[in-house]
Amino acid sequence: MHLTWEGVTLNLRTTFRLARSTSDQRRNVIAHLDEGLGEAAAVPHYHDTQAGLMDDLARLASHLGDDPFQIEDILNGLPPCSQAARAAVDVALHDLWGKRLGQPLYRLLGLNPGRVPQTSFTIAMDEPAVMAERARQSGYPIIKVKLGSADDEAIVSAIRQATSARLRVDANAGWTREQAADLIPRLAEYDLEFIEQPLPAGDLEGLRWLQARKLGVPIFGDEGVKTARDVARHAGLLEGVVIKLMKAGGIREALRAIAVARSLDMRVMLSCMIETSVGVTAAAHLAPLCDYVDLDGPLLIANDPFVGLRYEGATLTLPDLPGIGATVRNGYP
Ligand code: MG
Repeated sequence: MHLTWEGVTLNLRTTFRLARSTSDQRRNVIAHLDEGLGEAAAVPHYHDTQAGLMDDLARLASHLGDDPFQIEDILNGLPPCSQAARAAVDVALHDLWGKRLGQPLYRLLGLNPGRVPQTSFTIAMDEPAVMAERARQSGYPIIKVKLGSADDEAIVSAIRQATSARLRVDANAGWTREQAADLIPRLAEYDLEFIEQPLPAGDLEGLRWLQARKLGVPIFGDEGVKTARDVARHAGLLEGVVIKLMKAGGIREALRAIAVARSLDMRVMLSCMIETSVGVTAAAHLAPLCDYVDLDGPLLIANDPFVGLRYEGATLTLPDLPGIGATVRNGYP
């Protein structure tokens, strides 16, 4: 099989401010494995760059063999590389699998495309009034709010007054244990579904300390939970986990992570990085296995070079095409 790749520069519709970073653009990499498509997202938090991901793909190119149906063997034989580059190859293999058999990936996985949960829409950090207005204007029935600033309670209060949407918040590892213990009971007053990653990744003792305080809002792990092994390490410490292809290293490991979470009675949210319709559509094929979906990546991008997953408000429809079903947008480049 022949692997090639190209860089894509993605312009964001609004500046994406999180607890640790700000960006107006992202530079991802699209992988082509014969006719299969994959994507590697360069996420600043994981220190991935577009150039680094391309170097990784160049090293992986000679380890792919000629049989796209040997997905397990191929992935097990890859040399060490970033999770995002691994995900690009994994997704391209799954796309190729479906294309060669003429079937959508969800069908090969035995999943019901009618079971895709509605997606949330993300409100990036800004002044509380600006965030509240964005939440109201979006019209979305599920809003995910980025926190981790000094205004966290004011933000949630303003958004709660602006919309009756279901609210989820994401601290992106932005709080100390003491801040979390102080804030979470106060935020519970605003009827939150859950809080993502209140503490720094890997602070298992902190999670144990928080959970002992019965703070009244379920806690989900994101930055601290990448793979199936990470899910297992958090047994009893989280009510749910956030699964992303770019963290897991692709569809294969994401399926394992979901299975481990289920075995531990954890809930599962499927999410994405800032990715084009290639990465996000690939992820969406796993959505029927998940309780919650946060797949608004393409909605945050002004110049997505691809089409795939369809959005009608918060309702998602998987493409009924072979493989992951992402195709080049008419008129691109
Ligand atoms: Mg998150």
